[in-house]
Amino acid sequence: MKFNTVIIGGGLAGLVAGISLQKAGRGTAIISEGQNALHFFSGTFESIEDAPGRITDLFAEAGIGLHYSPGVRLMPMGTFKKAALSLEDISLFPGPKIGSRALIVSFAGYHDFFCQFLAEGLEKQGMQCRIKMLNLPELEHLEKSPSEMRSVQIARTMDRIWESVVREVRILLRDEDTVILPQVFGLQDTSVPSRIRGGIPAQVVFVGTLPPSVPGIRTQMLLKRRYQLLGGTYLMGDEATGAHVHERVVHSIVTHNLGNHFLEADNFILATGTFFSKGLRSNPFEISEPVFGVDVEQASDRTDWYNPEFMREQPYMKYGVICDDNLRPLKDGEPLRNLFAIGSILGQTRPGLGSGGELAIRSALAVADQILKSDE
Ligand SMILES: Cc1cc2nc3c(=O)[nH]c(=O)nc-3n(C[C@H](O)[C@H](O)[C@H](O)COP(=O)(O)OP(=O)(O)OC[C@H]3O[C@@H](n4cnc5c(N)ncnc54)[C@H](O)[C@@H]3O)c2cc1C
Repeated sequence: MKFNTVIIGGGLAGLVAGISLQKAGRGTAIISEGQNALHFFSGTFESIEDAPGRITDLFAEAGIGLHYSPGVRLMPMGTFKKAALSLEDISLFPGPKIGSRALIVSFAGYHDFFCQFLAEGLEKQGMQCRIKMLNLPELEHLEKSPSEMRSVQIARTMDRIWESVVREVRILLRDEDTVILPQVFGLQDTSVPSRIRGGIPAQVVFVGTLPPSVPGIRTQMLLKRRYQLLGGTYLMGDEATGAHVHERVVHSIVTHNLGNHFLEADNFILATGTFFSKGLRSNPFEISEPVFGVDVEQASDRTDWYNPEFMREQPYMKYGVICDDNLRPLKDGEPLRNLFAIGSILGQTRPGLGSGGELAIRSALAVADQILKSDE
């Protein structure tokens, strides 16, 4: 199988690169082993502090609305964090005072939404809070087993019964100006959060829950759907295990499921994430990148990899593959000519490209542009 570009890793970075290349008419394949960081996504792309048209357009074409305004957003523990480019259902506020009275609503038997911490945090900002649990007959089948009472299971039901939630909240609402709900709406039907807002006569704020993240899974599904609609080949559940490289040119990659059928391409993109997604691995002697064995930045003394004070910033979080100016990873100090690295596998080696979601998106766009330019 021969493609223009094969992308290893189908998280945020891999999907943004794949969509950009497919849109420009290049035939690509994404091979992705498993869960990615979007399953833990807060709904906010860290470090993007504006709404660049190129990024918002790419997401809008996938059915994902984004917005930004300077200020803060409410975190699950009732604290506030600087605003950044966010999904439309995430509320952004000019400052940490979001209202005077809040009704915080959750569901009986659901423990992945921290109402009490949220209330305590908001009360410190001078807000009065009231917590109410809804007993919805439609959730009774989940309540029988606590392991089923998780955000994604609830979200699947909510797409059908969100109107019951609106009705119950309207009955509970007294003089509150703000209603806070867990982020368990709009998993399949992206219009649900705004319809809930339209149905409740108060400001409605959706706040994050324990993972898996419902807005993150929705974002992943919509990006993947867009990629496939553009003709991209998404090989889910397969793992790139090695590569054929000759004179610094990658010819093909080997995958677990395809065996002797190698994936050939003119270009390859490494978007395998960091330790969390197994894009980087470590043993007591070294930190390595497992598919191509490219060079990884790291302190030579293992004891410098981490800070023994667990809550402090950890040096290993900064480590990433070492690249040239064109984001081509080096192997034994020299770049592989047609391999590029994007997303969190870069660690903090590229501060100019931002961090978190910004790094994933900007590095993906930069590499897609380079591939398109080199094809001209
Ligand atoms: C828990 C967590 C929460 C985060 N939350 C946020 C947030 O809310 N906002 C934000 O801006 N940033 C967040 N980040 C930062 C995050 O890393 C980026 O935002 C971004 O989603 C990373 O995307 P990525 O595509 O580089 O990597 P990943 O999302 O890690 O995706 C890499 C993919 O590659 C696959 N893969 C790995 N090796 C192979 C292989 N050999 N063969 C095939 N597939 C392979 C993995 O299975 C995975 O699916 C979070 C990070 C983590 C770890």
